[in-house]
Order: sequence, then C-alpha cells, then structure tokens
Amino acid sequence: GATIGILGGGQLGRMLSVAAARLGLRTHIFEPGAMPPAGDVAHKVTTASYDDSVALTAFGQSVDVITYEFENIPTSALDLLETLRPIHPGRTALATSQDRLTEKTFLQGLGLQTAPFADVSDMDTLTAALSEIGAPAILKTRRMGYDGKGQARIMAADDAASALTDIARAPAILEGFINFSHEVSVIGARGPDGSVACYDPGENVHEAGILRTTTVPARLNPTQRTDAVLIAARILNALDYVGVMGVELFVTPQGLIVNEIAPRVHNSGHWTQNGCAIDQFEQHIRAVAGWPLGDGSRHADVVMENLIGDDMDRLPALAKTDVSLHLYGKAEVKPGRKMGHVNRIVKS
Ligand code: ATP
Ligand code: MG
Ligand code: MG
Repeated sequence: GATIGILGGGQLGRMLSVAAARLGLRTHIFEPGAMPPAGDVAHKVTTASYDDSVALTAFGQSVDVITYEFENIPTSALDLLETLRPIHPGRTALATSQDRLTEKTFLQGLGLQTAPFADVSDMDTLTAALSEIGAPAILKTRRMGYDGKGQARIMAADDAASALTDIARAPAILEGFINFSHEVSVIGARGPDGSVACYDPGENVHEAGILRTTTVPARLNPTQRTDAVLIAARILNALDYVGVMGVELFVTPQGLIVNEIAPRVHNSGHWTQNGCAIDQFEQHIRAVAGWPLGDGSRHADVVMENLIGDDMDRLPALAKTDVSLHLYGKAEVKPGRKMGHVNRIVKS
C-alpha cells in the first residue's frame, strides 16, 4: 500500500496513523520535537528540524503523498517538499490559514461574516484600530496562536499598551468582541474529485481558551444548521481543498460568524470516532490518498470531553463507565496539555 507522510506527530498525527493503518496504508511522521505521541503507532518516524533539508528530502522521497496535522510549517520546508510530492491540503489553504489577517480577509472576500478586524503592527496602529473597532476587543498574534495563546482581551482603551507588549506581540490583529450565544464547528471534507461531505455541526465549550467539550447535535435551528454546512462547503470549494477542515463559528442573532478555519482534522471532530461510520481521521486519509469520501452521517448523539492535565486523575473512574476512551500515550502530564478524550454516547 501507499505511504502517507504526515508533518507533525501529536495526537492528531497519531489518530491519522491509526486510521491509515486500518486502511492498509503506511504512515511516516516528520516531527521536529522529541519522540511524539504518533511515534508508537506510525510505521516510521523522523525527528529532525524543518531546517534539515537532508532529512526533509529523505522524508519526502519515502512517501507517496504529504499531509499535516499542524498548520504552522515553515514556508522553506514546504517549498522543498512541494518539489518532491503532492501536499494535501494544498499551499493555498495553508498560506490562508497560517495568518489570521490573510484568513479573515479571505473569508470576507467570500462574503462570509467575520468579527470586525484590523491589522496591528505597533502601538499607533493599535490605537487607530481600537478607535475604529471599539472596546471590548481581542488582540491576537497573526501567526502561531492556538488554545487561546497569544491573545489579550482589551476591555478598555487603557489596556491597550499592556496587551500589545505582554501577550499578543505584533504583527497582530485586533478583533471586535462578538457577543455570541454559543460556539459551533463544522468538520468538512472535500475529495480530489471536488465532492464535499460535512459532518453534523458540533457545539463547543471552551475553558481557559482550551476546548473542553463538543456536543452533537449542536443547538441550531434548521436554517442555521444548513447555513453552517453551506459556509464550510463554500470555504472548501474556494480553496480547491483536499482533506478535512475544521470551521469554527459563532452563533449570533445576526447569523453565523466565522471565527477561524483549521486546515486539518480538528479536536472538535473527535466525536466522529464514535458517532459516525467513517470518522474524520479516516475521511482525511481517504481524501489525501485519492479515495472516495466515506459516509460521515451521524448515528448517535455524542458528548466528547477532552482530558486535560490533571483530568487524567479521573481515568480509573472513567474507565468503569460507558465511555469510549481515547488516550494519546503522552508520558508527562502538564497543566493545559491534552492527554486524551472520551466520547460518551448519549442516545443512539
Ligand atoms: P484554537 O485552539 O481553536 O486554534 P485559537 O488560539 O486559535 O484557538 P481562537 O479560536 O481565535 O483562538 O479563540 C479562542 C476562543 O476565544 C474562541 O473559541 C472564542 O471562545 C473566543 N474568541 C475568539 N475570538 C473572539 C471574538 N472576536 N469575540 C468573542 N470571543 C472570541
Ligand atoms: Mg486556532
Ligand atoms: Mg479556535
């Protein structure tokens, strides 16, 4: 069978590797950090820096197609890999979503609603952005932020100076604060033939900036549910996308507002492992490997709960209940670190 190269060896790379193995495919992980969670399930692992062109070339030559579980791959590495093998999802999707300014500009260009935003490069542009957008607002680094890192809330103009220096360093964007009732996400997939399949939207609850639970079905009326899926499809088509994508949405009385997109399998799609015949990981591998998309229809109501840091203390008790356990095999428990998740079938 073919070998899928995966950039990044975290839990997403691990679960992609499991899905690939089930389809008779091999995976080769490239990971710049220490021995990653994907290491014990992938067929091969290369731990080397993205600057190591020799290792990167050997990796590229050893695989048939390249995908990733992490969107912040250095451009130079992508330039090299692109000469060797196809990369799915493609460069456009990566470039668009690596930078919050490019991302929001692209979304608005599609006619989708986003939070009002402005580019911030220093104190002067922040002051100008604040007078335009108003407080409360959120200052976010344009690149590399995740789990709410690199973000500062600005409740009043006085907070601006400390926000810019401490947490969210320029280049950044200022976003107007959206008064949403709740957050949902759509996990969408697009195949090489342009067919699109979206999972039923999930409702997401965050705690301290980190996803805590995803519940399906989400609280959405039929119009909102259709809109959510159409928004995801529009984004997938516009990017000529191949693979699975996560689209985060704010639910407001004025409609659905796109928060951000992730060009990869997504934490809020983990419920599909126990709620669908074909989960997001298999769906992604199918698309990337050039197979037809599978049936992602939902056959159960599910609550996915992340196990973060000390939540692992609850594992013995959880193991005695009717939940499906998904553990990432990470050696060390750290505050804020995602150690695993559980899927609880509420109704089927
Ligand atoms: P992720 O781990 O999902 O990649 P992230 O670090 O990229 O997170 P965002 O998704 O942009 O960060 O923001 C994290 C959370 O902060 C959102 O899920 C939402 O709860 C809140 N948030 C972000 N932007 C806004 C906004 N403009 N208005 C109101 N709340 C917001
Ligand atoms: Mg994000
Ligand atoms: Mg987010």
